Amino acid sequence: MPNVDLHCHSTASDGLLPAADVARRAFDNGVDLLALTDHDNLSGLPAARAVADEVGMGLVNGVEISIEWGGLQVHILGLNFAADDQVLGDGLAQIRSGRVIRAQRMAAELEKVGIDGAFDGAMRHAENPTLISRAHFARYLVETGVCKDVRSVFDSYLVPGRPGYVDHRWATLADSVGWINGAGGIAAVAHPGRYKFSKPQMRLLLDEFKQLGGQAIEVISGSHSAENVAVFGRYAREYGFLASCGSDFHGPGESYVDLGKLSPLPQDLKPVWEAF
Ligand code: AMP
Ligand code: MN
Ligand code: MN
Ligand code: MN
Repeated sequence: MPNVDLHCHSTASDGLLPAADVARRAFDNGVDLLALTDHDNLSGLPAARAVADEVGMGLVNGVEISIEWGGLQVHILGLNFAADDQVLGDGLAQIRSGRVIRAQRMAAELEKVGIDGAFDGAMRHAENPTLISRAHFARYLVETGVCKDVRSVFDSYLVPGRPGYVDHRWATLADSVGWINGAGGIAAVAHPGRYKFSKPQMRLLLDEFKQLGGQAIEVISGSHSAENVAVFGRYAREYGFLASCGSDFHGPGESYVDLGKLSPLPQDLKPVWEAF
């Protein structure tokens, strides 16, 4: 089976390495086919493409779209779409425009619990200011000694019910799948094991996703346990979804799994890349 990694981030969103370095590291780690899937923007794709062409690695266009579904933030991956599609580009720009205002509200919430300077502090970590994300706030909270590492930030801060979390209107499921399909790509539910949905809610999400034209789910993910893999492998079989796999690499020391270091997809599932 080829070494495929269809989910990772660069400084174009909340990753730690520039897109070119992400592509080079993927190649050095043995990746045959990569998708750079930055949050809500495509600005890292040209640099990743240049490196992939230079070293002879496969690369498909990717993006991870932030949506709101069932009252929670859900992520939908777009894979192998036309990056110059106007409707997709406009949709992503609209999501980005809300991020700065949200970040200001998050900083105001953190101030209430005695954490000052979070907006400027998070912004200093954001190479792309329109993509200010909770990951940048998390790095600020580590930098200032509030938390010991980025992972532990999300136990006590920035998540529903904890300081620094604010509700936000992202895109809808229908928007995201429509934009991706309209640009000739394949939509995949990212890391389904991460969402705190009941079983009936998860089924409702997958039913709606399929009805809207969604074709794939991430079965292998850097943030999936062995049990998650088994559960979402079963969902893939039942729904007839293509199976995707991705590390969700954000940077050295900040990710569970490095680029290209994933366990293989369960043998009987149909790999999403066979549809590219
Ligand atoms: P945002 O898109 O601004 O809501 O930020 C979401 C980002 O925060 C994710 O893409 C991750 O990079 C990071 N994140 C969220 N939850 C966690 C977690 N439990 N552990 C580590 N990083 C997380
Ligand atoms: Mn992220
Ligand atoms: Mn995600
Ligand atoms: Mn991701």
